[in-house]
Amino acid sequence: MRDETICLHAGYEPEDGGPGVMPIVQSTTYRFESTEHIGDLFNMPTECMYSRFANPTVDAVEKKIAELEGGVAAMCTSSGQAASCFSILNLCSAGDSFISTSTIYGGTVNLFAVTLKKLGIECIFVDSDASYEELQAAVKPNTKAVFGETLANPALSVLDIEKFAALAHNNGIPLIVDNTFATPILCKPFEFGADIVIHSTSKYMDGHALQIGGVIVDSGNFDWANGKFPEFTEPDESYHGIVYTETFDKMAYIVKARMQLMRDLGAYPAAHSAFLLNLGLETLPIRMQRYCENAVKVAEYFKNSDKIESVTYPGLEDDKYNGLAKKYLPKGTSGVISIVIKGGKDAAIRFMDNLKLAKKEVHVADIRTCVLHPASATHRQLTDEQLIACGIEPGLIRFSVGLENVDDIISDIEQGLGRV
Ligand SMILES: *Cc1c(COP(=O)(O)O)cnc(C)c1O
Repeated sequence: MRDETICLHAGYEPEDGGPGVMPIVQSTTYRFESTEHIGDLFNMPTECMYSRFANPTVDAVEKKIAELEGGVAAMCTSSGQAASCFSILNLCSAGDSFISTSTIYGGTVNLFAVTLKKLGIECIFVDSDASYEELQAAVKPNTKAVFGETLANPALSVLDIEKFAALAHNNGIPLIVDNTFATPILCKPFEFGADIVIHSTSKYMDGHALQIGGVIVDSGNFDWANGKFPEFTEPDESYHGIVYTETFDKMAYIVKARMQLMRDLGAYPAAHSAFLLNLGLETLPIRMQRYCENAVKVAEYFKNSDKIESVTYPGLEDDKYNGLAKKYLPKGTSGVISIVIKGGKDAAIRFMDNLKLAKKEVHVADIRTCVLHPASATHRQLTDEQLIACGIEPGLIRFSVGLENVDDIISDIEQGLGRV
């Protein structure tokens, strides 16, 4: 099946006379006829037993997302943050390190640089544009994974997935890609060598700003038995001595994440959240296409305005990342654009406060056009000099183009700029 069909039909097969839409299974527990049946499930978790780590409604959505990404299995989480966190904790223990590009979501930077550090896991940040040799020099004997974002939030740099996959594989470790902004509609990182994909489903996948969520998808391609990952190949005493690679083969990573991390930390979404996520997924392909079409027109409008200093949108021919975008995101580069307005912070605030259609929100990748000014929100504590040092101009605005009529979006921008 192709994407549009997968989005509508994968994951749930109604029984004869069953409901046409995946029902919300609102139950913490599941009943079994025999004690032996429950015992068997502890050996091989093929059915749901407890909703802290599995539920039929969530399971249907996991199957749909796994199929969309071209992976073998997926596990939903209650936020994108939980997905990023579990993707690393499934591989690294205290004393290990992993590599991440520095152009990643701010919340992920905090998680990696502060919280995981407290657990004894070191994140080595690298420049996503560094040469292969420079990247190789950052790898240490205890390095267990490489992490990057397909289309970085908010830098909008495009990850050279093949370069990072080669780095990871030459060192016997997996590449994890956060594919939130691209979604599997615009890019399928497994096709370029990524081993694990994660998402914040709170963005385009849900699409309607209804609920926070995340997902981890396993390609099934990585060889966990290469000697670097003893937790996969030696008996797990917390799970009656199961050896993940022997019992679960290609699904070793995702089953370990579920049966260790989700079991112990419990960040599983509610059935109702998965039901809403599924509604978003059903229309994802047509929505992504329209976000991209609208954003190209808006980016071009900004480009031609004399009130704007610069526009970053990898879909524009003269963008620094247009070459990589053509390779990895040939169908488009999402609805997110960043602009630097002339006149710095004051001009940025005046422009934003005069927008009528575009909503000021701490959100991005929504169905409705929304804007955020990092210098007065997420990076508020920094001085203008500090802002520039971390790549955020005081006049920078993240503009997330929605699905309104593009002429209305542009008229709103036009009147807003007119008041600057
Ligand atoms: C928002 C976001 C996250 C965090 O997701 P939440 O669902 O807000 O926890 C992670 N990565 C990227 C790229 C994001 O945009």
